Amino acid sequence: DSDDPATLMRWSEMAMYVAKSQGKSRYQFFSEQINDKVHGELQIEAELRRALRDKGSELWIAYQPQLCTRTRRLVGVEALMRWRTPDGKALSPGDFIPIAEKSGLITEIGAWLLVRICEDLEELRRNGIELPKVSVNVSPRELKQGKSVVDDICHTLRRFGEPIERFQFEVTENALMAENGPEVLDAMRHAGFSLAIDDFGAGYSSLGYLKRFQVSALKIDRQFIQELPHDEENAAIVTAVIQMSAALGIKVVAEGVETEAQAEFLGTHGCDVLQGYHTGRPMPPAQLADFVRLNEANQRA
Ligand code: C2E
Ligand code: CA
Ligand code: CA
Repeated sequence: DSDDPATLMRWSEMAMYVAKSQGKSRYQFFSEQINDKVHGELQIEAELRRALRDKGSELWIAYQPQLCTRTRRLVGVEALMRWRTPDGKALSPGDFIPIAEKSGLITEIGAWLLVRICEDLEELRRNGIELPKVSVNVSPRELKQGKSVVDDICHTLRRFGEPIERFQFEVTENALMAENGPEVLDAMRHAGFSLAIDDFGAGYSSLGYLKRFQVSALKIDRQFIQELPHDEENAAIVTAVIQMSAALGIKVVAEGVETEAQAEFLGTHGCDVLQGYHTGRPMPPAQLADFVRLNEANQRA
């Protein structure tokens, strides 16, 4: 691919980077596509690193409401990361979180995120608003740090005077199998946090872990909700998950609820919580404050 030793070294390193990112014991030849991909990713990584250091307004958190299916009262919010680059481009977490995971930057992001959430909660409190519950996404790579990550989280919450019970951590099924995953999740639970399984049904489900980790909530993946109520197979899966969860005393959250027909189906079948564009989009804290006030007024009416 080149006559120049330095270039060859650089390119073989790039190929190695791609091979490593795909798992253990892989090989990868260099190609132009790899060059473009790695450059794109390295650029995003560098910019994300800068955005984290700058502590400016590029990174912020959107909060998506979670409503009780029966009463439509706000029972919690999910914190979702947002990034608007200086040129005004909004990058989706689906694009930059995987890069942050690969590069290990996710641990810095996780720490930043929690502080930012506490600051947002403080600001909401000044406006007379106390949120019932806050759900935070945790990626498998963050668990790799081991149990010390739980101490760090507790330390931050103590610093802001936030109660531990207010926080729920969302992990996907594959996080349970991640390096240090089980120990860290146990430590989280012992510290008093609740755990939710994210994207339930989309990964490799081993139902034993629901008991093993004393999971508080299951979030049914959007793919099963999307075609409700008419798709019979998805309807069967969703009803079965709800029944199983009820028997185990686990709350069920439906993700990606976009229509009233879906909400109604879920209500009829005993789903506990609704989350989706239909009941509330992810929004900045100021807008969330309005949402909470309106929700409270509706509850009184
Ligand atoms: P997720 O945890 O499954 O989050 C739900 C995603 O579904 C969010 O996408 C949300 O905006 C979107 N969503 C919510 N309601 C609807 C709906 O009714 N219809 C549709 N089509 N989509 C809906 P978002 O914000 O782009 O986040 C994507 C993923 O990135 C998240 O998936 C999560 O895995 C990850 N992520 C986001 N923020 C963080 C973070 O702070 N830390 C970590 N580790 N991961 C994060
Ligand atoms: Ca989530
Ligand atoms: Ca999810």
